[in-house]
Amino acid sequence: MFKKNSPATHPKHERTLVLIKPDAIQRSLVGEIIRRYERAGLKLVALKMFVPTKEQIEQHYTLDPHWRRVTGEKTIKSYLDRGLEPPVKDPLDVTRILLERLTRYMTSGPILAAVWQGAHAVAIVRKLTGGTEPLTSDVGTIRGDFVLDSYQMTDRDGRSIRNLVHASGSIAEAEQEIAHWFSPTELINYRLVAEQILYDVNMDGIFE
Ligand code: ADP
Ligand code: MG
Repeated sequence: MFKKNSPATHPKHERTLVLIKPDAIQRSLVGEIIRRYERAGLKLVALKMFVPTKEQIEQHYTLDPHWRRVTGEKTIKSYLDRGLEPPVKDPLDVTRILLERLTRYMTSGPILAAVWQGAHAVAIVRKLTGGTEPLTSDVGTIRGDFVLDSYQMTDRDGRSIRNLVHASGSIAEAEQEIAHWFSPTELINYRLVAEQILYDVNMDGIFE
């Protein structure tokens, strides 16, 4: 027989962090973005609006010790894929420039930080959010539907890609990022009525 897992390890407890970036707020897309995550069945367990500091943004992006190297390599590859010469050769130098631009972008106005909970929250939110560069993000995703930015433009203008939202890339990243932006008491443990339909084995309780 199949082994039953303990209730505490049920995938419905997975959590992920979303930052609604300054451009999304300026473009009045907050409701649209929240609606997309909400209608997938995810539960909002924390939400706040504030102007982040440079230090908070830098810390957020460097919580993962590999982020600097991985992001630098990914960026160099994106230049090579486009048949272009990267401006600098060392991945860490590439990231240093990116991080400066990213900090300028992320501190340019208020942002919203949110924690979403539900089965496969990390992967579902990444799927609904879409790929980093809006020019190539899939149609139907937030970044694919509402932005027209590209690496070609950001390289030309020396700025960060404007792609409306940040979403954690893995469960480990999500746990670190949630702890970075929220204290444990800000995360609300509560039941959503819809969860009975999403997760209950027998969908009990529909008939009167
Ligand atoms: P994602 O947000 O899709 O997880 P990354 O973690 O690689 O992407 O990068 C963080 C953010 O930095 C991106 O969302 C984007 O705003 C910006 N960014 C990343 N790479 C570039 C680049 N090559 N040029 C300009 N901005 C970039
Ligand atoms: Mg990332």
